[in-house]
Amino acid sequence: MKLILLGAPGSGKGTIAEKLAKEFQLQHISVGELLRQEAQSGSEMGRIIKQTLGTGKLIPDHLVIEIVRLVVKGKNNFILDGFPRTVHQAKDIQDWPIAKVIYLKITEERAVERISGRRICVKGTHTYHIKFIPSKKKGFCDIDGSKLIQRDDDREEIVRERFKVYAKKTKPVIDYYRELGLLTTINAANSPEKVYQDTRKELVEPSYQANG
Ligand code: AMP
Repeated sequence: MKLILLGAPGSGKGTIAEKLAKEFQLQHISVGELLRQEAQSGSEMGRIIKQTLGTGKLIPDHLVIEIVRLVVKGKNNFILDGFPRTVHQAKDIQDWPIAKVIYLKITEERAVERISGRRICVKGTHTYHIKFIPSKKKGFCDIDGSKLIQRDDDREEIVRERFKVYAKKTKPVIDYYRELGLLTTINAANSPEKVYQDTRKELVEPSYQANG
C-alpha cells in the first residue's frame, strides 16, 4: 500500500505517520527528515538544501523529487510524510498507484500552539510535545534515550512563514487530490489518539464520504 499524508505544519503528520507505519507495516518516509540528513551529509546537494532548510521556504522541486525517487525505488509499502508539497511534485508522481491521500486539517492558531511545544530527539525522527505527548523522562527520548530539542524552524516567525508557503503551494495539492477522488479529510484538531483512530478507521473501513 502506498499512502500520502498531507497537512499544514503542526497538523501532526509525523506522529500519525509513525503510528500508521507501525500498525500497517509501511515504511515511514519523512521527506523533511531526508532533507535534514542530506543537508548534514556534506554533499553538493546538501549544501544547496542547507541554504533553504530552516527558513520555512520549500526546497526546489527537482532536488526533492530526486531524493524521494531514490528512496522509494523498489518499495511497495510506504507512507509519504510531507511530499508532495507542490502541484509540480504531485504531477511528477501521477503514475504511482496511490491508495489514499490523507489530509490532516487544522487551523493556524491551533497548529502554532502545537508547534511551539514540539520537541524532537537529536538521534532520530521521534516527536514529542511538552504538553500533549510528553516523554517519560523529561527532555529525553523514550525510544532511543537521546536529548530532546526544538527544531530551528519551529520558532514562531518561521512557523508563520511556513504557513504562508503552505497556503500558496500546498493547498493546491489538496485540491488536486480532491478532484482525483483520492482525498480523505481528518479533523486534526482532536487529541493525537483520536486523530489516529479516525485515520486508521478510514484505512480499514473507508466511509467513502470523507472527501472534504
Ligand atoms: P517538515 O519536516 O515536513 O516540516 O519539513 C521541513 C522543511 O523541509 C520544510 O519547511 C521545507 O523547507 C523542506 N521540505 C520538506 N518537504 C518538502 C517538499 N516536499 N518540497 C520542498 N521542500 C520540502
